[in-house]
Amino acid sequence: MKVDWKGLTQGIYNAVLGKQWIKDLAAYRMNTYCSPCEFNSKNAIALSGYTTIRPDHHCTRCGCNLEWKTHQLSSSCPVSKWQAEVSQEQANEITKQLSNGAKEE
Ligand code: SF4
Repeated sequence: MKVDWKGLTQGIYNAVLGKQWIKDLAAYRMNTYCSPCEFNSKNAIALSGYTTIRPDHHCTRCGCNLEWKTHQLSSSCPVSKWQAEVSQEQANEITKQLSNGAKEE
């Protein structure tokens, strides 16, 4: 299980400072796919006896925190339930622009 820490950092940034369209995308991914998914840790505990000491809701396939992962524009579901919106390079550029915009506000 390889966690994309750099990407997750972008997801955290987007969750805290991101624009509404990023928050809407994250909510759609979470509500439509991750919340009911059998690989969501909260469901895996109940459905398949998955055990963990982590308190957060995470994906048991990739290990990512789901709140952060769904906010990451270049992230995708490890079992192809949802896709990346942009490449990693494009996500880096968007984050840079958001960061510059936040400094100007
Ligand atoms: S990222 Fe994919 S596999 Fe993981 S919890 Fe969400 S929908 Fe399920």
